[in-house]
This record gives sequence, structure tokens and C-alpha cells, in this order.
Amino acid sequence: MENYTALILWKRVTSNRYLAVVANPHKKSLFLYKTKTAYHCFQHQQKTIKSICYKKPRKEISIEPQPRERRKRKMEKSKVLIIGGTGYLGKRLVKASLAEGHETYILHRAEIGVDIEKVQMLLSFKEQGAHLVSGSFTDHQSLVKAIKLVDVVICAISGVHIRSHQILLQLKLIDAIKDAGNVKRFLPSEFGTDPARMEDALEPGRVTFDDKMIVRKAIEDAQIPFTYISANCFAGYFLGGLCQPGKILPSRDSVVLLGDGNKKAIYVEEDDIALYTIKTIDDPRALNKTVYLRPPKNVLSQREVVEIWEKLIGKELQKSSIPKEEFLASLKGQEYAHQVGLIHYYHVCYEGCLANFEIGNDAVEASELYPEIKYTTVEEYMKRYL
Ligand code: NDP
Repeated sequence: MENYTALILWKRVTSNRYLAVVANPHKKSLFLYKTKTAYHCFQHQQKTIKSICYKKPRKEISIEPQPRERRKRKMEKSKVLIIGGTGYLGKRLVKASLAEGHETYILHRAEIGVDIEKVQMLLSFKEQGAHLVSGSFTDHQSLVKAIKLVDVVICAISGVHIRSHQILLQLKLIDAIKDAGNVKRFLPSEFGTDPARMEDALEPGRVTFDDKMIVRKAIEDAQIPFTYISANCFAGYFLGGLCQPGKILPSRDSVVLLGDGNKKAIYVEEDDIALYTIKTIDDPRALNKTVYLRPPKNVLSQREVVEIWEKLIGKELQKSSIPKEEFLASLKGQEYAHQVGLIHYYHVCYEGCLANFEIGNDAVEASELYPEIKYTTVEEYMKRYL
């Protein structure tokens, strides 16, 4: 061993670049004075020491990370596990996570069996660089194992009754996150109306909010770091049908206004929801917060949405209106799943539950956090139906 200088070669985990780090005790750069100290130091920083050798270095460099290096380290991206990755929102989360440069893992549930569409989708994600991890909600250890591979877990499990509603299954996921003990951030399947504001929601629609609140309580009781995404209205569901329940394509002839059609709601394109969501995962400003997605140009009433459509098709629609009482009475006799959905429309379109409050200090707004994202406006979105 040279008397004065130790050269330590080590490798960053996330890239293949080797860095040579030098300590010279005579210059009182004491950081690497003892190999052991350096070893623990780097272990602490989650670096892997490739090899250690002692010889005079060709060139002395500072042990302290240079500003550029420091900045790069700061920008290191979390590894992400997406659960429900083949779903309506989940597939967009996978795409956004890959596009944003995150090492992306997708839970591949044994239960999907021979669902060829899902398997093909998973394989195409794999081709794009995602890792598929086998696991099941019925196999706790498989969830723990999958979670241990990553820093962040995003769950996009189903929560729309007309499709499937599995929100409470997330309690199993929370148990696994607790056992794994490594998760820096968990984003549960929310992506809609903020359930914390829906204490007075009507039956049976309130089940969605109640279940999401049960999940929140379990997360917070377990002290798991979280971000809740309140995504407001998915554009496909609401804009496609000109805010009319049961419709997802806009008519060129007529529209039924819910009440006076003047209550403001908020519409967000699904790929934008996914992108905003991914942006939050390494953002300390979103830690243990609700992030509301409120693109300013997309806070519009049903009438305003209809006007945009009318302008695009160059034609005025025939309008009728359904009063609140009639709307609520129409629920009777309908299937449970439809009743749940209709109650959601009731709170959004008759009560204006999405836009009738200011965002408090305990929450943040996505378009303010990420002004660089050019979100899709309602007008741009509606053009796809022309
Ligand atoms: P989907 O109905 O598309 O389902 C998502 C995934 O859930 C599926 O792909 C599947 O994942 C997983 N899943 C379904 N059933 C089970 C099960 N029994 N066990 C385990 N996993 C299961 O979900 P959405 O994308 O429609 O909903 C995601 C979230 O978005 C929900 O919280 C929902 O409430 C919210 N939402 C909000 C809307 C709004 O307008 N704000 C509109 C629609 C949804 P895989 O097979 O890939 O493992």
C-alpha cells in the first residue's frame, strides 16, 4: 500500500460509470483515510464498491461530488412497481413511467391466465423496457418480493363498479408494503374525487369514497409515505359523453343537461393524469400530500363543454334538462353498479363537488407543480371525436 494515497474504485448502482475517488491524508482530505470508513460511507449511500485497491492514482480528484455529479445523484429516478398495469389507467402509468426514465416493474398476476390481450400488453411493455414480476394478491410473499425490487409502488387497481371494484384488496398490498419495509412512496388507487371531501356523499355511490378512505387510514396507520392523486374527471368518461352518464360518444344532435348545466367540473386527459402522477413520485413537495389535478383551462361547466363541441361541429345541439329530483328518482330499480356511477355524476354535476373548494395548505396542485407539462385542453380533446 502506498503511504499516502488510497485509490478506491467504485461503481454507481444506476449507471456503468466507474469513478475514481482519492483521499490523501497529508492534504487532510480525511474522508477516505481509512478504507473501512469509506466502505461504510459508500454503503450508506447505497453505492456498490466494485473493487478496492491501493496504488498511487494517476490523477488526484476531489472526494466530494462535483456539482454536476451531485445534481445527477439528486435526479436519480426511483424504481417503480405498477399494480394493475394492464388497466385503463394502469397502462398509461406504465407508459409514463418508462417515458420518464424510471426502471419500471409491472405485477403480472397469475390470475390473468390466458387473457391474451393482457398478456400481449405485458409483453409489449417488456419490449419497451419494463420488467414483469409474477405475483398475486392471494400470495403475500409474492407481493413482498415484488415490492422489495422497487422504491415506489403505484396501484391502479379497478375502482369503477360498472367494470370492477377491488379497492379494498389494497389492504393486502399495504400489509406487504409494511413487511417489505423499503417503500419510499405509495400511491394507492385513487385518481378521482378526493374521498376525504365526500363524507356526506349519497348511498350507494359513497362506497367508492368510503373504501378509498379505509385504504388511506391503513396507509397512514402504517406510516407508509404516500401521495394521493385526485384526478377529477377522466376525459374519456366525461367529455366523450358531454357529461351525460351512460354515454361516451358526443351526439351531434342533442344533449341532456344535468340541472342547469352550470356547475363547474374538472376534466383531465388520461395520459396527462399518468404523467402528472409519475412526476410526483420523486417530488418531496408531493410527499404525504394530496395532489389535485386542476388544469386551469379545463375547469368548465357542462354547458361550456357543450359549447366547445358545438363550435367544433359548427352546429347547435338541442338541449333539454333533467332536474335534480328527477335524476335521483331515476336511480330506483337500476342495477347497483349503475346507481353507484349515477351518484358520482350527481355529486359532480349537480353539486359541483370537484371545483367548489379552494385547495388548502395540506395539498398541492399539479399544473402549478409542473408548469412544463403541456396538458390537453378540453377543446383539443374533443377534436378526436370529429
Ligand atoms: P380497471 O377497471 O381498468 O382495472 C385496473 C386493473 O385492476 C386491472 O387491469 C387489473 O390489473 C386489476 N384488477 C382487477 N380486478 C382485480 C382483482 N380481482 N384482483 C387483482 N387485481 C385486479 O381500473 P381503472 O383504470 O378504471 O381504475 C383505476 C382507478 O381510477 C380506480 O381507483 C378508479 O376509481 C379510478 N377511476 C377514476 C375515474 C374518474 O373519472 N376520475 C374513472 C375511472 C376510474 P392486472 O390484471 O393488470 O393485474
